[in-house]
Amino acid sequence: MTAPTAASIALEGRFARELPELAVPWRAEEPPAPQLLALNEPLATDLGLDADFLRCADGIAFLTGAALPDTATPVAQAYSGHQFGAFSPRLGDGRALLLGELTDPSGTLHDLHLKGSGPTPFARAGDGRAVVGPMLREFVISEATHALRIPTTRSLAVVATGRGVQRESLLPGAVLARTASSHLRVGSFQFAAATGDRELLRRLADHAIDRHYPDAASAEHPHLALFEAVVAAQAKLVAQWMLVGFVHGVMNTDNMAISGETIDFGPCAFVDAFDHAAVFSSIDHQGRYAYGNQPVIAEWNLARFAETLLPLIDDDADRAVERATEALGEYRAHYSAAWISGMRMKLGLAATVTDEAVAPLATELLNLLHENRVDFTSFFRALAGVARGGDRPAVLEVEALGEWAGRWLALSPDAGVMDRVNPVYIPRNHLVEEALAVATAGEMRPFDALVEVIRRPFDERPGLERYAVGAPDGSGPYMTFCGT
Ligand code: AMP
Ligand code: MG
Repeated sequence: MTAPTAASIALEGRFARELPELAVPWRAEEPPAPQLLALNEPLATDLGLDADFLRCADGIAFLTGAALPDTATPVAQAYSGHQFGAFSPRLGDGRALLLGELTDPSGTLHDLHLKGSGPTPFARAGDGRAVVGPMLREFVISEATHALRIPTTRSLAVVATGRGVQRESLLPGAVLARTASSHLRVGSFQFAAATGDRELLRRLADHAIDRHYPDAASAEHPHLALFEAVVAAQAKLVAQWMLVGFVHGVMNTDNMAISGETIDFGPCAFVDAFDHAAVFSSIDHQGRYAYGNQPVIAEWNLARFAETLLPLIDDDADRAVERATEALGEYRAHYSAAWISGMRMKLGLAATVTDEAVAPLATELLNLLHENRVDFTSFFRALAGVARGGDRPAVLEVEALGEWAGRWLALSPDAGVMDRVNPVYIPRNHLVEEALAVATAGEMRPFDALVEVIRRPFDERPGLERYAVGAPDGSGPYMTFCGT
């Protein structure tokens, strides 16, 4: 058997071929002194890539886009987007490239994409670069999201470029290689719709159907069925975020994937002390993307998506609006169904406990957690101990909880069910920061250890106690900065 080479990796150029109007052929900037900082071995294996190859110089050249198979046609993707509510007609991959699509051994197609690979024609005032801290942050948070069974893009590797990147100070540059079931965004449709080229829009919609919702192709109205499928997928996705206390941080329409995967991990974080209004991003002054706003923001983004599809939904403009509005009207029901069924499991309740009983019980509990700023993750995990009849742990010492717990216990919660859905380990903000700070200075061990812990979030292990608790008292509010 011959050793693998970059040339032997079959990378298709399907998006580039089918949608050239949305793809600017471009090459990655070659890193002066590349060094592999993180490699996702389980993901490499799932993709059918040889981890030993990816670790060697040729593999690292592949992971930075410096050495690609002849079949590859790397492109910067064009898209528009509503950023904090304001429309930008021309965003696009300013510092990213779609290298192409890989088929894994099970036959599933994945985009292989780089972030921080140098300026493209969409870079505007940006330098096209990324730095080590935020790229490792995307690696660990996306890996945690995946381990929590939430649909997400995945991080394959982070390579330090050996180039200094000017931010507030000079920081080490990095390239992230990631995979996604595709990088089609609501913003991709906004871009196509804004061209006024209906056939382009149709090709984009058909490409999305083919890749993500093949059943829609045989529906009576395929493009309406595409919209309905995305509404359902996004409702479920955001419900899953809410159930683990995830705050995406920058839910612009260009950061919402048609596939229903979590995408573009920038200033995201998990809540520690529960707060409906939790905001971590330093630039989200109005709290537009606060924890508790995420469900309505997703609905708003879907309305923008619907607008792009109207010309495909019906030739009659009024009827198209009517149909799209009706389909969007299903969002809240999908969201509630997903959230209630998730809460039923978090509370260990049987399927026989009705939605009408679960919803107020869960809402009341969240309000108690909010009023008392209780650590969200620790609370749910500790609650299983109460279901088992143990003493009430410290995290549950909340006045008024006694009465709530009495009503909950009367419903015979199953602690085993709770332990399967309530994580012990999430990427705690203070531990992420600690790991990234030393990684930026060249010490990778805390980062590697954190990744190992969050890969098995439900499996409590001795010796890992410090990974299971919130920030120490007095560490102040946590703030994240956009993925620059
Ligand atoms: P994001 O907030 O990361 O989703 O990015 C929003 C837009 O800004 C996208 O079009 C990015 O490609 C672009 N962008 C972000 N950072 C840079 C950078 N350093 N250089 C060029 N473009 C960038
Ligand atoms: Mg983005």
